Amino acid sequence: MEDYKLTELPYGYDALEPYIDEQTVRLHHDRHHQGYVNGLNATLKRLEEGRAGGDFSAIRTLMRNLAFHGSGVVLHSLYWEGLCPASESEEPTSGAFLDQVKRDFGSLEALKAELSAATKTVEGSGWGVLGWEPLGGRLLVLQAENHQKLTIWGVKPLFVIDAWEHAYYLKYQNRRAEYVDNIWNIVNWAEIERKFNAFR
Ligand code: MN
Repeated sequence: MEDYKLTELPYGYDALEPYIDEQTVRLHHDRHHQGYVNGLNATLKRLEEGRAGGDFSAIRTLMRNLAFHGSGVVLHSLYWEGLCPASESEEPTSGAFLDQVKRDFGSLEALKAELSAATKTVEGSGWGVLGWEPLGGRLLVLQAENHQKLTIWGVKPLFVIDAWEHAYYLKYQNRRAEYVDNIWNIVNWAEIERKFNAFR
């Protein structure tokens, strides 16, 4: 079985300055994200051993670890992809994605306000998520506590905001709200639109 690999950053460690500092990106990507990759690979190996020996006595722990590390790997890749240098962050002014945003939220400003509010108020560690719900065909904002708790099955996340302290603590300390407000300067809207068009 092929091991999961740490996805490379699509930009330099300092590319998100001054909104997210270089040291945070280094620690966040090279230590935390890598940690989830290692944890996922280790869990898959233990699952394989369990299957081979027909021993599922540790299945509850393994399922918890699988969801925890697996979600950590996926959400962190989405997080890095969803951001870009401020000089390249351009809000959409037309197109299918913006039309859908207007239909479901009223305006891009309203979407940003809702996702900001959701991210700022996640209890403890977690994520704010913008997703596409394919059954009803609509964009939704969700809160994810920690990240192993999947809230709606089938949602394809388009963009996520990491609200774990390690994402902002060096620069912002306890000021999560300031970090969230500033992240809108470095959003890769083109990538969000690309995912939206691919999933839709
Ligand atoms: Mn993180």
